Amino acid sequence: YDPDNIFAKILRGDIPCNKVFENELVLAFHDIAPKAPVHVIIIPKKPYVSFIDFSKNATPGEIAALMQSTGHIAAELNLTEAGYRIITNAGQNAGQEVPHFHLHLLGGKALPPFPV
Ligand code: AMP
Repeated sequence: YDPDNIFAKILRGDIPCNKVFENELVLAFHDIAPKAPVHVIIIPKKPYVSFIDFSKNATPGEIAALMQSTGHIAAELNLTEAGYRIITNAGQNAGQEVPHFHLHLLGGKALPPFPV
């Protein structure tokens, strides 16, 4: 885990974010380069690199918190009816840019066919 990655800096308060949601275990903020009208990044506060790292090493409480927070945010952003997409990139083949595990929540328009 690289503590100098951009999301670690956001978590430390070293750089700002446009916050959508926060609790003890989860932070969510608007993506700085949105690929859809709604593009929110949802992260665990603990330092996990990827989906596999998170699924192996996070506590059940951390995993539940991330899932429940993501559903809550999607509903709060009024995506329930029209629909939305949740993705995570891991490693080189997926083009992961920030090595702190995160979910992308996308919506607000008809999204291009998967995979995007
Ligand atoms: P990924 O390719 O899955 O690692 O996605 C990283 C995402 O983080 C990209 O969509 C970026 O636009 C976004 N991003 C990078 N820096 C920031 C930042 N400072 N605040 C919010 N989002 C960011």
